[in-house]
Amino acid sequence: MNDCLFCKIVSGEIPCYKVYEDKHCLAFLDIRPLNPGHTLVIPKQHSKNILEIDEKTLQEIIIIVKRLSNKIKTVLQCDGINIMINNEPAAGQIVFHTHIHIIPRFKDDGLRQWEGNIQQTDGELKTTAKLINQ
Ligand code: 5GP
Ligand code: ZN
Repeated sequence: MNDCLFCKIVSGEIPCYKVYEDKHCLAFLDIRPLNPGHTLVIPKQHSKNILEIDEKTLQEIIIIVKRLSNKIKTVLQCDGINIMINNEPAAGQIVFHTHIHIIPRFKDDGLRQWEGNIQQTDGELKTTAKLINQ
């Protein structure tokens, strides 16, 4: 896909701070990190997001996410890691090439996620579960 930003990073047309590469997968630092070491793991083959990626490719990259998360935790001595995937604009996706965020977390780093929640009755929870589980 010619006009895809991350395809251009894969091809080398746009530079990045690479932290890992193999045949199917590339990982590089996010240009606007939430914390030092914020890394994006992507498949080299273009897909829009997790809703569309083929399952074999997903398996390959999620294993790299696990390994890199451990590496990052060790070398950066962070206290935890968030793994995040935004899919579609409503969920905050702004680059439409599948990518998995590895976000190092430090105690009291001030990052907040998913503030607020909705209240659902037992009946609503039951209906929602039934819908998904059919
Ligand atoms: P999304 O919201 O789509 O999950 O996140 C896209 C991420 O890509 C953002 O965190 C953003 O900072 C990062 N990003 C956008 N453009 C570039 C770029 O040119 N290079 C790098 N390394 N990261 C980018
Ligand atoms: Zn792409």
